Amino acid sequence: MEGKGEAPAIGIDLGTTYSCVGVWRNDRVEIIANDQGNRTTPSCVSFTDTMRLVGDAAENQIAVNPTNTVFGAKRLIGRRFSDIPVQIPILWPFKVIPGPGDKPIILVTYKGEEKQYVAEEISSMVLSKMKEIAESYLGSTVKNAVRQATKDAAVIAGLNIMHIITAAIAYGLDKKVTTAGGKNVLIFDLGGGTFDVSLLTIEKGIFEVKSTSGDTHLGGEDFNDRMLNHFVNEFEEKHKMNITGNPRAMRRLRTACERAKRTLSATTLATIEIDCLYNEVDLYSKISRARFEELNMDLFKKCTELVEKCLRDANMDKNSVHDVVLVGGSTRIPKVQQLLQDFFNGKELCKNINPDEAVAYGAAVQAATLSGEGNDKVQLLDVTPLSLGLETGEGVMNVLIPKNTKIPSEKEKEFTTYDDYQTSVLISVYEGEGTKVNENNLLGRFRLSGIPLAPRFVPRFNVRFGVDVNGILNVSAEEKTTGHKNKITITNRKGRLSKAQIEKMVQEAEEFKAEDEYHKKKVEAKNSLVNYAYKMRNTIKYDDEIASKLAAVDKKKIEDAVEFVLRWLDGNKLAEADDFEDKKKELESIWHPIIIKIYMG
Ligand code: ADP
Ligand code: MG
Repeated sequence: MEGKGEAPAIGIDLGTTYSCVGVWRNDRVEIIANDQGNRTTPSCVSFTDTMRLVGDAAENQIAVNPTNTVFGAKRLIGRRFSDIPVQIPILWPFKVIPGPGDKPIILVTYKGEEKQYVAEEISSMVLSKMKEIAESYLGSTVKNAVRQATKDAAVIAGLNIMHIITAAIAYGLDKKVTTAGGKNVLIFDLGGGTFDVSLLTIEKGIFEVKSTSGDTHLGGEDFNDRMLNHFVNEFEEKHKMNITGNPRAMRRLRTACERAKRTLSATTLATIEIDCLYNEVDLYSKISRARFEELNMDLFKKCTELVEKCLRDANMDKNSVHDVVLVGGSTRIPKVQQLLQDFFNGKELCKNINPDEAVAYGAAVQAATLSGEGNDKVQLLDVTPLSLGLETGEGVMNVLIPKNTKIPSEKEKEFTTYDDYQTSVLISVYEGEGTKVNENNLLGRFRLSGIPLAPRFVPRFNVRFGVDVNGILNVSAEEKTTGHKNKITITNRKGRLSKAQIEKMVQEAEEFKAEDEYHKKKVEAKNSLVNYAYKMRNTIKYDDEIASKLAAVDKKKIEDAVEFVLRWLDGNKLAEADDFEDKKKELESIWHPIIIKIYMG
């Protein structure tokens, strides 16, 4: 446990496409709506000539400022540039380039300057926004938050992460355990861009992750793409025009498809009407739920296949699953639910909590539990997502800790030399499922020296792998007869951020905070000036008492001053807070003496 929380306890789900925040209050969870009244907030950040926008405001920029509006960035976290599926950068209107260590870098123009960000930074901006949404609702500062997202991003936002959570908590499945040997829960999370399925065993408040599976490129956006293609083809057949080369037309059609898809979750027919889609030609069409399902059937089936794989990895029969929990906006699709229910022989699915809110909901429950507001403590047992091992002769991967091993975990194995009279060995540590190391990720290398002179296969040395609760891997090697030792610690696996990188981001996040405050101050000063000017004008017009006592020359003076300021505002949109304040003082210096004269005289 990383420290006691301070009330109020909030939970954040930092999603790839949408994020959500919940709070534990009065013994229950409330999902907090943002300033636009929406219960989920787009995980989107937009950079303009003058400011940075996050959430709904950023999403609105997609059409007008596509190259500087970043969405879906979470898909890049922990990936190397060369591993990104090629279709991702093609679909994204913003630029992604390979950076140091092949880490993907997002390029945008912000305030007229080119800026580079890593995905973690964009995520941390969204996380800060979610924190602000909670703060403005609660009217207090939020320090602790439990959320399901990358730890790195949370460090940047200055949050104290207490634990990883699961949506099972939202359903109180940890409380309802009756079965001997625990309860098996399958979490089916189909969101905007990713599909995750995990199998947990819950026993006496202890969560054990049995296996995880999924697809990092499968979700709601793919369903939109299928529908988009359908209408592109239809339009081409009907009008002999291909709109794919026109970004604006594609964007408008994509938005319409997203809306139609959501409609089809509730009704069996959706209409699409877009005026002047392309070359003055409208697109008026319909799509049935059945057609939509047909377009996506292979993708829907893939979800069930991955559920099967997850069960197989855990060595569990589907009849042993006690609860199936739906998470992610795309599980609102009736066909997805039906296929899953059929797979589990008609079992009722847990879906009475909004699927796109379930993670934030569970996070809030857990935040409350950890901060002492809830009742019992919940403990999560995690697993290694990939096999860990080292290279032995001819580039073979020798696995010490297999994939899906419960952590913390430790394993020791004996090795020998491959050459005669070898006095040292190079130990190369890899993660991955390939049988050859060149198919896997190299995590680090170190040398064990002091091996006694002997023909090959004679010397013996031990290598020990240990993964702690935080997923940190320690590898040590020891030659028993001489006592020579060496070791390596691997903390940032899979292209994760180094401490220095994180510190740099923390610092930049601070700078952003200062900048946001600067903008806020500016906007407030400007609004205050505008309000003051209109108030002056309205008072002399509509306040009968003042209007009747006002001398003509003073009336003119006020009208001119107001007029002057409004015109000045038009020409000085980018003025600083001080300028607005000065102008307001000028207005006050005209207004006050006149009003005093009226009331005194
Ligand atoms: P994330 O992937 O960020 O975790 P969510 O879990 O909120 O996001 O899922 C977002 C996806 O859910 C989007 O692709 C959205 O189109 C889809 N979605 C939301 N509501 C519906 C609905 N009623 N029917 C079908 N899909 C939906
Ligand atoms: Mg999600």
